[in-house]
Amino acid sequence: MLVVMAQGATDKEIERVCETIRSMGYTPLPMPGAQRTTVGLIGNDRRVDSTRVEELPGVAQVIHVSNPYKQVSREWRPDPTVVTIAPGVSFGGDEVPVIAGPCSVESEEQIVEAARAVKAAGAVALRGGAFKPRSSPYSFQGLGRKGLEMLALAKRETGLAIVTEAMDDEGANLVAEHADCIQIGARNMQNYSLLKTVGRLKKPVLLKRGMAATIEDLLLSAEYVLSEGNPHVILCERGLRSFDTNSRNLFDLTAIPVVHGMSHLPIVADPSHGTGRRDKVIPMARAAVAAGADGIIVEVHPHPEQAMSDGAQSLTPELFGDLMRQLRRVADAVDRQIAGVGAGVA
Ligand code: PEP
Ligand code: MN
Repeated sequence: MLVVMAQGATDKEIERVCETIRSMGYTPLPMPGAQRTTVGLIGNDRRVDSTRVEELPGVAQVIHVSNPYKQVSREWRPDPTVVTIAPGVSFGGDEVPVIAGPCSVESEEQIVEAARAVKAAGAVALRGGAFKPRSSPYSFQGLGRKGLEMLALAKRETGLAIVTEAMDDEGANLVAEHADCIQIGARNMQNYSLLKTVGRLKKPVLLKRGMAATIEDLLLSAEYVLSEGNPHVILCERGLRSFDTNSRNLFDLTAIPVVHGMSHLPIVADPSHGTGRRDKVIPMARAAVAAGADGIIVEVHPHPEQAMSDGAQSLTPELFGDLMRQLRRVADAVDRQIAGVGAGVA
């Protein structure tokens, strides 16, 4: 439920609304706006009786949020949320930032070489997993804490913001110390205890859609993070499991405009996992920007043939340069701008 206060409502009137909500057993969340303050009511899983609040002085309107996801909904916040992960790196505004780097951090040389290459072409953030969720327990699992230290080194060398995955509570705390944005992978989208942990950490979160999750499932997972007091959530479409073997996943670009209709949160696209094939990454990245994606996350490896994970879908630095040049033109056509223009413009 949202309580919209009248323009000019006093602090005392707002506090009385909060007090009343508390006495009803729920939590008030005052949200001051340019024109008027709105007080959200959280903690309910069904419609609440609003009569006591409606009668209070200074209350203009009470809106019942009909969706099971509340704080992430457009009803709750009509304006887009802009999530800033580092100075100048924001998702949800006019600019479209590109996050690029290898699937996994493999060595100091590899991650620094990747960071330098993607920065030169115009990426504003570096990706790379130190904790890797692999389908087989015998596959490379990531370098863990050492990998995080290598990412921190790459950041010192290039100034790129760092986006990296956390798979459990302990990892989330470690990632929060080293990274600018904590990635929650597709396999953990419904790991509710992890979602609550990153909600409490208050660091920006990149939440990837599960491979068999509906858009509503994705929004409800984001709601877990917001409900712990962390509004800095970037959603990510990375493809769904399908029956077709021509691509690794079915890249659901429709999710981008659908999410924009349902939620104020930004959504980025991952054409690397979305397609699984290097030669399909550039066309689908172009399509994602044309569809309104608020950012692109893409795998780039200095030597994809030697990659310890996801080599088949990793772009070479040269192809990444081509991608950036093409994305600038597509962004221009839809009145957006690839962030960091200036770097590597050909
Ligand atoms: C990744 O980003 O390398 C990754 C494991 O992604 P996803 O969780 O989407 O499979
Ligand atoms: Mn990967």
